[in-house]
Amino acid sequence: LPHTVALVAAAGRGSRFGGDRPKQYAALAGMPVLRRTLAALRGVPEIDAMRCIVHPDDGDAYREAVAGLDLLAPVPGGASRQESVRFGLESLADAPPAIVLIHDAARPFVDRPLVLRLLRALSSADGAIPGRPVTDTLTRVADGRTAGSIDRAGLVRAQTPQAFRYDAILAAHRAASGRAHTDDAGVAEAAGLSVAVVPGSEDNIKLTTPEDMERAAALLARDRETRIGTGFDVHALGPGDHVVICGVRIPHEGGLVGHSDADVGLHALTDALLGAVACGDIGSHFPPSDPRWRGADSALFLAEAARLVRAAGGSIVNVDVTLICERPKIGPLREAMRARIADILAIDTSRVSVKATTTERLGFAGREEGIAAQAAASVAMPSPGSEP
Ligand code: MG
Repeated sequence: LPHTVALVAAAGRGSRFGGDRPKQYAALAGMPVLRRTLAALRGVPEIDAMRCIVHPDDGDAYREAVAGLDLLAPVPGGASRQESVRFGLESLADAPPAIVLIHDAARPFVDRPLVLRLLRALSSADGAIPGRPVTDTLTRVADGRTAGSIDRAGLVRAQTPQAFRYDAILAAHRAASGRAHTDDAGVAEAAGLSVAVVPGSEDNIKLTTPEDMERAAALLARDRETRIGTGFDVHALGPGDHVVICGVRIPHEGGLVGHSDADVGLHALTDALLGAVACGDIGSHFPPSDPRWRGADSALFLAEAARLVRAAGGSIVNVDVTLICERPKIGPLREAMRARIADILAIDTSRVSVKATTTERLGFAGREEGIAAQAAASVAMPSPGSEP
């Protein structure tokens, strides 16, 4: 039996973000808020299973938001948050967990240290909630005028998740049916349970307003870091009537010699992307000894590097290729090369630069014995220990 189950209350109707979508399905940096919340909870190994409580009208949005995640089947919510949570608790009665964490779908910044504080507190209490101190002065207002401040000593701002012994909170919710409480701690208290307060997290904000979404986007950006990779490649010129550079076939008085299509630009760029995610080099992924890559389109190599970047949770910020040759003249081909690279990497052309230089007729490139390319790539990655 699962020892600890997270119940995520996602049945609310609040859509103060202006759109008609409830806030838990709004996109936060390209991902629905609910999915981010579930991903954060999934990063807590002490949680054995998760179940969402979902509004009956939100079936499609829910399925889209949680595609591919391993969850218990959702349960439909009720007329209020309190009723929804009770339905969620009742749904676990056949296979009761020892502990239940009740969490708001709109708090995607829950993290493991917070959950561990709650679970530890349950050794000496029936329930535990995260609380943050109130630092601003609390003042009553009447008719636009101050009407006496409130002593903030002993006050905290209660967050979720709220953790309870399952049997105790189920009984409390059953007993509270028909009487409204502001949160599950209130339900527990009304039933005489002891509820501990542990330090909450200032980042564990509840996304309610458009300003909250902006703050959340900034928190996500804070937890990402930029990685840089560089690459360099050379291919000799030999017999032939064309070269392929940056995915563009160019008629030429010779050809580039190589096992694949010898696309020196894409090879340097592939190495730059692999370097940014510390994922080896082009030779380790596509050994020249492997007959599969004879004459291969180097777009395959670059696409695989992009796949590895994304599999590591990264997104490509920009790439920059410098071709080093006397001929062919790159200027007239630049836009075609940028477009081809953008297409292979599935990023916007504005993130792709292709430049060229000669070596003033010096060295192997100057003598047109070969063509060289160097590349740089930057990738935004989750900082270690931030996002799952
Ligand atoms: Mg090469």
